[in-house]
Amino acid sequence: MGNWQQIVVPTDGDRITFKDGKQQVSDTPIVPFIRGDGIGPDIWAASQPVLDAAVELTSGGRRDIRWMEVYAGERALELYQTYLPEETIEALREYAVAIKGPLTTPVGGGFRSLNVTLRQIFDLYACIRPVRYVDGVPSPVKEPEKVNVVIFRENTEDVYSGIEFASGTPEAAKLIAFLKDELGKNVRAESGIGIKPISQFGTDRLVRRAIQYAIDHNLPSVTIVHKGNIQKFTEGAFRDWSYALAAREFADRTIREDAVGPDGPGGKIVIKDRIADAMFQQILLRPAEYSVLAMPNLNGDYFSDACAAQIGGLGMAPGANIGDSAAIFEATHGTAPKYAGKDMVNPGSVILSGAMLLEYLGWQAAADLVHEGVRRTIAAKTVTYDLERQMPGATKVSCSAFGAEIVKHMREAV
Ligand code: NAP
Repeated sequence: MGNWQQIVVPTDGDRITFKDGKQQVSDTPIVPFIRGDGIGPDIWAASQPVLDAAVELTSGGRRDIRWMEVYAGERALELYQTYLPEETIEALREYAVAIKGPLTTPVGGGFRSLNVTLRQIFDLYACIRPVRYVDGVPSPVKEPEKVNVVIFRENTEDVYSGIEFASGTPEAAKLIAFLKDELGKNVRAESGIGIKPISQFGTDRLVRRAIQYAIDHNLPSVTIVHKGNIQKFTEGAFRDWSYALAAREFADRTIREDAVGPDGPGGKIVIKDRIADAMFQQILLRPAEYSVLAMPNLNGDYFSDACAAQIGGLGMAPGANIGDSAAIFEATHGTAPKYAGKDMVNPGSVILSGAMLLEYLGWQAAADLVHEGVRRTIAAKTVTYDLERQMPGATKVSCSAFGAEIVKHMREAV
């Protein structure tokens, strides 16, 4: 265990460990949390009591998360004079499963996003975003309740590999010359150059997780979303490798859409693929036909926010970044600095990310109770400003009061 300057390790909890890729969780696991910048501390103050109450109420007090604060972002800069201290990385590595609020990305100075850095350090290759409608949340579409999807976005390749050279640089000129001289491909002079690698390794491990998720949750289909009609050897290969993986590793549990006969899929998970632009239409016009979706990084970036918008926006959209031996659950929105310290914003995104964490710990009943508490609170129309301004007859409550309302409704629900 680290000899850390600022991090205080709870003395009466246990480390989550991994055996054969499966997390091993005691009744009192130690879970690091990062409050985050801007609205992060307000949101964490409202969220932690909700998660604690859900665990307590569903385990009769037997289980309890031992939270351990670790630091990143502006708070870390104050404490350690760096945005991402070494001991935070060590603690996350040692304790493996964490939850975080939003972090400021310092502008300029060539600083990479802290979020992207964390995902890379821990090889959190799957960004998982469930998008499910909560009754009563204002939505721009007519039937938001038909949207119920889980997006698996590849988190390490494609544009996240970040190989880019600016127009006019010697590197870009060198690459343009190489493409022309060695490979016979013409690129306009003075172009900026970006490289988009997609590998079978990266595809397989993401799609394996997506199919396993569909099996574990008894879901009907997994849809591969790609742009393979244009980018054949990256996005097209992603599609081909996905089908091949399903056939190789899940032959008895999956069936390709084009092999489904008149009697239906026979209880198997249907593997389909859709071209990304068509899929954006489909999710608006026929959302009920989609369940689990797997896609390369950039498609997933656009698609998760577009889906979140349909069910009421980022304030209610949870997320998780998961690897084979680590996971970080996080809000999908940013730090909204103008609301910092005002106890005003919607903590829903972190609370629902916390529900994903509880599910990951194997505490499904606690996760379900959080969802039920959120559902009842919104049905009672006691909501934060962002929802209140769109919900006729709603009562506006603070961030902390919204959390307290959820706890109250959870107590009534058990
Ligand atoms: P933002 O912080 O997400 O805020 C944009 C707007 O979204 C807010 O002004 C507010 O809209 C609404 N909003 C966000 N969170 C909300 C919540 N919990 N409840 C209610 N409304 C909420 O985006 P940004 O202003 O572009 O980014 C600010 C900083 O966050 C940047 O430094 C960025 O790099 C960082 N960021 C971090 C993460 C992350 O840590 N995962 C993600 C994205 C951005 P209204 O003004 O309409 O009320």
